[in-house]
Amino acid sequence: MLQLSMYINGAWQANNSVAKRQIINPANGTVIAEAAEGTELDAEQAIQAAKQAFEQGPWPRMSAEERAGYLLKIAERIEAHHEELTRLETMDNGKPLREAGYDVSDAAACFRYYAGLILAPHGETYPVPDQMQAMVVREPIGVCGLIVPWNYPLLMSVWKIAPALAAGNTIVYKPSELTPVTATKLFEFFDQIKLPKGAANMVLGAGETVGHAIAASDDVAMVSFTGGTATGRKIMQDASGNMKKISLELGGKSPNIIFADADFEAAVDYALFGIYAGAGQICSAGSRILVEESIKERFITRFVERANQIVVGAGDNPITEMGPLVSQQQMDKVLHYIALGQKEGAKLVCGGCRLTGGAYDNGFFVAPTAFAETTPEMRIVQEEIFGPVAVFQTFRDEAEAIQLANDTKYGLAGAVFTNNAAKAMRVIKKIRAGITWINTYHGTYNEAPWHGYKQSGIGSSLGTYGLDEFMEVKQINFNLDVAPIGWFANR
Ligand code: NDP
Repeated sequence: MLQLSMYINGAWQANNSVAKRQIINPANGTVIAEAAEGTELDAEQAIQAAKQAFEQGPWPRMSAEERAGYLLKIAERIEAHHEELTRLETMDNGKPLREAGYDVSDAAACFRYYAGLILAPHGETYPVPDQMQAMVVREPIGVCGLIVPWNYPLLMSVWKIAPALAAGNTIVYKPSELTPVTATKLFEFFDQIKLPKGAANMVLGAGETVGHAIAASDDVAMVSFTGGTATGRKIMQDASGNMKKISLELGGKSPNIIFADADFEAAVDYALFGIYAGAGQICSAGSRILVEESIKERFITRFVERANQIVVGAGDNPITEMGPLVSQQQMDKVLHYIALGQKEGAKLVCGGCRLTGGAYDNGFFVAPTAFAETTPEMRIVQEEIFGPVAVFQTFRDEAEAIQLANDTKYGLAGAVFTNNAAKAMRVIKKIRAGITWINTYHGTYNEAPWHGYKQSGIGSSLGTYGLDEFMEVKQINFNLDVAPIGWFANR
């Protein structure tokens, strides 16, 4: 069994209490690892190590080229351990090997992207009056607290760690208490490549203790968080003590709009991918499928036919197409919403239950589920379920599609399927969400910002925007003609 420790000030450390947390494989309930259960004291030690490393250590002071060299070495390590990381991610999170493999490749690519980006010019000069040269330089912020969820344990971590380190910050990172395995591996790589002491620190443990301590600390200059909207709200409150900068990537209830003139089979295929990839545990999941009234029957019939054929099973089985939910608690939450949908009067058209019998009994498997005949005010239409549950809504025209799509407190993602290019652009521009697709779903690129509108977040990940999150901008005004200003009389 794996034993997971914290990494503080360049050394592996047991926690300040003797408590351990068991890490479970959600496909079969077996214990795969024991993790040190961090305390507030551990968080404080990590914060102080990061503070010292920021104020006196080499990391913020070295050239961008040197920092980029470290990032490239990390990318190489990830690539060299691709198979191992993929297997560990599947064991810890439950996702099929195919999905975990993409995450690992994307994690390496993200380190490479920020290794390159930090070398690109990122200052400005302005032609201002008064014999002045005005310029802007970008500087690291300081100690950054990075808190991530369990649905993409490695990739969500890297989306924060890579730009934060590239910018010259030092970090205190906390994975989800459910899925710390691949992050621990990442920190092994940091240790092997001799990342300067204190530049990257990892604390394990619960959000309410360790996460709260990071978000509330006066010595943390910024907190970057990905997780649920309710937790994001708590982080905002904690961060207010020292007015630290916050970046929040939160939940979603994203609309996937299917017009009657779309390529029918492609739209069905992407609708399935949009909601059932990651067993629906993806913040940008296309969990509301909006179908034009005239193709409603045909579309739902075909969707259900295909959903019922999805092979659900353990992620390490090569034939598996959809894995389990991450934990008993998450499965219970999803089953609760399914029961709620039926109570609210929606029509269950597929799934709707935990899968049982044989190998299913020890894991947290829920059948691909969908509801039709919903109304906009139903809780299953408004609230993020974060599981394999789609809700169908129908619309008569473009205006109604847009109105229904935006009828949510969230604004993370959205898609439109149509063969009419002008209509596609018209509709997508009116969707109040930061991540959108036309005739596709879920594709994400390091180059483009990941950004939520409304209650889906504050700030951006990825792209140049993701790097900017981790930098301060400073203006420098340089007087090129030094002489007394003469503002006050020289008596
Ligand atoms: P949570 O908000 O429960 O947890 C996210 C992280 O925050 C975990 O590490 C958790 O710790 C920690 N945490 C919990 N409470 C606190 C607190 N009071 N102070 C500081 N940290 C805390 O989310 P889930 O892990 O359940 O992830 C699912 C959610 O994440 C969904 O809502 C999903 O939409 C969202 N998400 C958003 C993404 C985006 O890019 N917009 C991407 C991926 C997910 P621990 O669990 O270890 O106790």
